Amino acid sequence: MSGFSVLQRPQILSRLKSQSYDLLVIGGGITGAGIALDAASRGLRTALVEANDFAFGTSSRSTKLIHGGLRYLKQLEFGLVKEVGSERAVVHKLAPHLVIPEKMLLPLSEKKGLGYWLTSIGLKVYDWLAGVRPEDQRRMLTRSQTLKYEPLLRKDDVKGGAIYAEYRTDDARLTIEILKAAVDFKADVINYVRATEFVYSGDRIAGMLAYDEVGGYEFGITATVVVNATGPWVDELREVNRSLQGKRLHLTKGVHVVVSYQKLPVKQAVYFDVDDGRMIFAIPRGRTTYIGTTDTNYVGDKGSVFTTREDVKYLLHAVNAAFPLVNLQLSDIESSWAGLRPLIHEEGKSASALSRKDEIFESTSGLISIAGGKLTGYRKMAERVVNLVIRKYFSDIELKACHTDSIKLSGALNSVQEVRHYARTLQQHGLDDLTVRHLVENFGTQADDIINLRDNDPDTAWALLKAELLFCIRYESVVTLQDFLVRRTGLVYFNIAKAKRYIEPLAKVMKEVLDWDDKRHAHEVTAVIQLITNLSTFK
Ligand code: FAD
Repeated sequence: MSGFSVLQRPQILSRLKSQSYDLLVIGGGITGAGIALDAASRGLRTALVEANDFAFGTSSRSTKLIHGGLRYLKQLEFGLVKEVGSERAVVHKLAPHLVIPEKMLLPLSEKKGLGYWLTSIGLKVYDWLAGVRPEDQRRMLTRSQTLKYEPLLRKDDVKGGAIYAEYRTDDARLTIEILKAAVDFKADVINYVRATEFVYSGDRIAGMLAYDEVGGYEFGITATVVVNATGPWVDELREVNRSLQGKRLHLTKGVHVVVSYQKLPVKQAVYFDVDDGRMIFAIPRGRTTYIGTTDTNYVGDKGSVFTTREDVKYLLHAVNAAFPLVNLQLSDIESSWAGLRPLIHEEGKSASALSRKDEIFESTSGLISIAGGKLTGYRKMAERVVNLVIRKYFSDIELKACHTDSIKLSGALNSVQEVRHYARTLQQHGLDDLTVRHLVENFGTQADDIINLRDNDPDTAWALLKAELLFCIRYESVVTLQDFLVRRTGLVYFNIAKAKRYIEPLAKVMKEVLDWDDKRHAHEVTAVIQLITNLSTFK
């Protein structure tokens, strides 16, 4: 049985209560996951607790790109662009099925954005900073070439364009796979355990009190060092530690909406200018296209962030202005997600002008907090944190150097060619193209394990979905039905009709396998229905 399974929860809890750890990470988003993997793979005894599901916060609500952040070049953040730009190829190598090369089209407008030459030089610098291979470097396009790439663009406004290289991913799945790898290096990793209070020995932190949200009780975890990687919640734990001084977080909300691919059939991802000087993406994904993002200041409940009618109006206006033939309406939006950027506050700067750089804060009692940063830069952020932890607390013991650039994630093959070949072999199982893509891009070669779990149900779509659920219960710590539908499969975003259709049968399987009583079963069904309403209706 996998050590990353809800079925192993009692054993993981028992170890958390009885063992003493070198490092306890709080927060199971990409930042915490990266730190847990880096620390465990160097030889530190590592634990990680996540209050909700893994990737519950921003790490399931991003634009889902492993990208250099072209717009940070405009803000002259050369260091950030160089680091995250170079990381793209590294993260791709770790999981070529999950971090997939994607060419971006950047149309140039008559009235908005940078001109042809500035864009040409900017993209050249972007490629150079990130060390992009010559064959993948940017190509400038004429007006007619741009319109050939994307005939839906506004013809009277396009004056040229550029094609450049980025990568797309699934943020939540990337987080889950990194955590699985940490568990392979003997980290104890658990979701639905909330860190509530620090435990001190003298004036130094020596562990945490934690609350098991499933069992409903509190227990203690002992650790030499505690790292606060709670993204938008970082300041809450700094407050608990009475160390919230100096720099603070500034939360901004970013929204994405999803329409069916037929409604916005872009031929590739497009990154286009908006009237207000911002830029947004339209990204095709399977049977859908998603559009985002907004960037507005946010104050409110960090655990309950949803898309408003105002957000939707902004994105619809932007997309209809850039692609006049599509004329998207509110009723075309199938689903949406909204996330919070945990940025560092800078006096007088607007939401979109704030830096995306990460920062580490250390309190006098030893709490290490990390905030800011990007999904793309998770590995380097983790390396910096673990270097600091080792330098300060474990310099006298022999540990391995950081080698997360060579730890392949589960299901990974060696190249895009191998992934394509593997996808072709899956078609022999009688699966259609979109299903193969869903399986391969989310699970890599673990798709074989899922296919082997299928039964002979005449509803073959159901047989496969049920097999996915069983796989995720056994090997991916699914505790609630939402974990499966949101963060293991993305179904509520990218195939909401299918998610709705199978709520009841999925809940029934979970009831049987996890021994839920009727009350829990009813609660799970109601919670998913409520979530789907929140994702697809806009107030
Ligand atoms: P989170 O993912 O929020 O994780 C923090 C976790 O801590 C949460 O799961 C939370 O439940 C948990 N937690 C909180 N309190 C406690 C507690 N007391 N005990 C235990 N656990 C706790 N970056 C890119 O590289 N590419 C992109 O395309 C991109 N697009 C973005 C688009 C948007 C709209 C936004 C908002 C961000 C985007 N980013 C992107 C940035 C990136 O998504 C974030 O930097 C990253 O996901 C932050 O991860 P995190 O782990 O720090 O925070």
